[in-house]
Amino acid sequence: MVAETLTIAVDFDGTIVEDEYPKIGKPNIFAFETLKKLQNKGHRLILWTYRYGRELDEAVAFCKENGITFYAVNKSFPEEQFDPKYSRKINADLFIDDRNLGGMMGWGEIYQKLVGGDATQFQRPKKKKSWFGF
Ligand SMILES: [Mg+2]
Repeated sequence: MVAETLTIAVDFDGTIVEDEYPKIGKPNIFAFETLKKLQNKGHRLILWTYRYGRELDEAVAFCKENGITFYAVNKSFPEEQFDPKYSRKINADLFIDDRNLGGMMGWGEIYQKLVGGDATQFQRPKKKKSWFGF
């Protein structure tokens, strides 16, 4: 569990949602719950994605519909000017990205590490299996 305020860069495709790029995949389990909790704790969330233009707008809108408005999108802070002459480098304390070496930690585990407690409290009750479902 982390007490200080962190800037956390979060990837979109394959991280917040299942990778269906350029479409928007289903949210990964506990992703939005964890992100909301991190924001409530005062951490700054930056959306850090290779999406741009309309595909980026769609991702940002999707996150907003799910309760997450980012501190900044594809930049280190809201006022930063994007200059395509330079390769992008971001100032963040943490990156949450499915391209991490060794793969991505599940959001349940991320929740435990950064928020503390158990994300399974957000689990929706499972639907009863139908006898006719096979
Ligand atoms: Mg990704």
